[in-house]
Amino acid sequence: MARSEKMKIYKTKGIVLRRQDLGEADRILTIYTSKYGKVRAKALGVRKVLSKLGGHLELFNIVDLSLVEGKGLDTITACRAQESFRNLRADLKKTSLAYYVVELLDKLTPEKQKDYRIFKLLKEILATLNQKTIIGTDKLYLVIRSFELRFLSLLGYAPQLKKCLTCGKLIKPNLNYFSLKLGGLLCARCRKQDIRSTKITPNAIKTIRYLLEKDFSLTVRLKLDKPLFKEARNIVSNFVKYILQRELKARDFVKKIEKLERFA
Ligand SMILES: [Zn+2]
Repeated sequence: MARSEKMKIYKTKGIVLRRQDLGEADRILTIYTSKYGKVRAKALGVRKVLSKLGGHLELFNIVDLSLVEGKGLDTITACRAQESFRNLRADLKKTSLAYYVVELLDKLTPEKQKDYRIFKLLKEILATLNQKTIIGTDKLYLVIRSFELRFLSLLGYAPQLKKCLTCGKLIKPNLNYFSLKLGGLLCARCRKQDIRSTKITPNAIKTIRYLLEKDFSLTVRLKLDKPLFKEARNIVSNFVKYILQRELKARDFVKKIEKLERFA
């Protein structure tokens, strides 16, 4: 009894990011929780047919959880799926995008560091992908690019899209450049600070700001012509890849993103 008194039990909501088999019948789950941030926990016996936990702990599910703290990993003692995003799962492209979203989140967040905004954003992107009316490659890609920007911005990597990074002057709608290295805009005069920066049109700047600031419900209504869509998509995609490579040296993961883009 003395032992159980020391063990702390806690309850929280969470979203399943990753599942790894452990031994014969167990599994390690990585879950982004609303109260404790990212948690890795054991689910014992979860792969047995009659397990009470099993069906609830699917990838992407929003679950109500009870956990008990352990010396190494915590253990899930009870759980109930609250939302399982059936429409999303029925669509191969949406499923692959959801995989990408949870993997990106898993790679870039530390364990047990609470950030409710990240939990909320994850919930919103999955709910958006789950909507039957949201179809079409362009729409889906704008939503994913918006997720990336908003997520990176919560982690402190928001690109500077209003002022020139060097001289600090407000960006005027003429010739500007986007610098991956510096993380945002340079005016024509300051371009020499990063000669590898690329030209960006005023409309692309507006579009990327929109993706960064607006809810997904508004992003899906954006109608862009092909060249603008391509320009905004490429800049955001290169920006995300640049940050990932710098932060994670994640070549394999970046390759996966490129594959996903081809898949579209
Ligand atoms: Zn400048």
